[in-house]
Amino acid sequence: MTKTETMLKEVKLFINGEYVESSSNRLFEVKNPATQEVIAKVHEASFQDVDRACNAARKAFEEGPWRTMSVSERCEKIRRMAEIIIERKEELARLEAMDVGKPYQTAVEREIPRAAENLKFFADFMEKQGGEVYPMDDQFLNYTRYEPVGVAALITPWNLPFMLTTWKLGPCLATGNTAVIKPAEVTPLTVSLLGEIAKEAGIPDGVVNVVHGFGTQSAGEFMTTHPEVDLISFTGETSTGKAIMKNGADSLKKVSFELGGKAANIIFEDANLDKAIPVSIQAAFMNSGQVCLAGSRILVQRTILDEFLTRFKEAAMNLVVGDPQDPSTNMGPVVSEAHYNKVTSYIDIAEFENSKLIYGAKRPNLPEHLKTGYYLLPTIYLQENYQARICQEEIFGPIVTIIPFDTEEEALKIANSTDYGLNAIIWTQNLQRAHNISHDVRAGTIWVNCWFVRDLRAPFGGYKKSGVGREGGHHSLEFFTEAKNICIALQ
Ligand code: NAD
Repeated sequence: MTKTETMLKEVKLFINGEYVESSSNRLFEVKNPATQEVIAKVHEASFQDVDRACNAARKAFEEGPWRTMSVSERCEKIRRMAEIIIERKEELARLEAMDVGKPYQTAVEREIPRAAENLKFFADFMEKQGGEVYPMDDQFLNYTRYEPVGVAALITPWNLPFMLTTWKLGPCLATGNTAVIKPAEVTPLTVSLLGEIAKEAGIPDGVVNVVHGFGTQSAGEFMTTHPEVDLISFTGETSTGKAIMKNGADSLKKVSFELGGKAANIIFEDANLDKAIPVSIQAAFMNSGQVCLAGSRILVQRTILDEFLTRFKEAAMNLVVGDPQDPSTNMGPVVSEAHYNKVTSYIDIAEFENSKLIYGAKRPNLPEHLKTGYYLLPTIYLQENYQARICQEEIFGPIVTIIPFDTEEEALKIANSTDYGLNAIIWTQNLQRAHNISHDVRAGTIWVNCWFVRDLRAPFGGYKKSGVGREGGHHSLEFFTEAKNICIALQ
């Protein structure tokens, strides 16, 4: 029996270097969203289990050798984790496709390699870091050390489970912290394997722990209120971020939040539509629209509205919606029944708000074995009122709204009209306009004539209710370290 088959049957907690059963004896089921078939039974961590995991992480932090070993030795082990992920990439991608419902091809070609790159990048980056030196008139010398903070709670969502967890784990480990990880309850399969991957890479017991469970009054809350946790790196919904901030407040935990989005994808009349349309289709429907960076509000200058609508609709109709394991599939189901109900409720809302349906809003025709899956066709609405709920709220599914505009000022006003500010996309060939709009849109990442291009050195995070803090490059290292100033008298 392969490791994967074992994990499919029963997903255990990984605490202090070994897989263990939950002390509560409670197990919850995980379903394949393409078929509703149960693919795993997962041990739900009790308070005692989370307590053990946090204490194991504390002990591993305090007693070493993780924190005290040389940076190069530590980073070598993290790079080994990355290598193991690449060696196991087909298995990880198959699990991710089964768990999330995303196309296997995207997982194997992009997400799993990017997960490995997250670890390798931060290992390489950390090895090259120095600190500042401030001499004072040859009398005193100040220098700065960046030291690990302690035990980190890493809490991740279900849309890109493995990739987003390694995005946190890379800088967390490279800086010498220890971790308690909690993946989303609907997609725990790949993240649970990080335990054995870390062990195989030679990472000491207790440095990486993985617990499973839910949020409120479950593993999530137990971690974020635990006295041994020093910092919380969380990616998920804005409302969850608020709850975590309140829970972490009593013990003043350091927090970094990557939250929701409702990005404007602004198509000016001088845009190169041959590029803008295929990329906008990706931005709208990749991962069934379950991407925080999705370009879910497409602002189109009225002079090109008809042409854009025709071409965008045609491209959406050409997407292959089907079995995530089939290499020809472009779009799978959404992740769960609860999420399907949330996403499809926006169809009623859109109708109530007099949005014009351009395409979709119904289930695709699918073969018999996928008939129970949580599928929705790529769905496009046209809406003149940018304050309508479908233009303001994060749907996080394959539903996009096209909003016409006339002037640059109007586009800017619409782009900045939501509570979110994670990212925006601008399509224009006018250099001045590209710069000016990029400066004036209140969002953490602006892509001009492209989307989803990531340099891991660059800051990543949201304005407004899309986040707190930044991750990426030295921003991650600053979050995961305490900066210490040492002042030496020279005379
Ligand atoms: P979610 O907030 O429901 O859950 C995320 C994680 O938090 C899960 O592991 C969940 O169990 C846990 N959790 C829930 N309540 C908790 C609590 N009270 N205390 C501690 N932990 C708790 O989010 P989701 O539905 O899994 O993911 C979708 C959301 O994530 C969307 O809003 C999306 O925009 C956002 N997201 C943001 C980014 C980004 O980089 N900004 C990336 C991906 C997803």
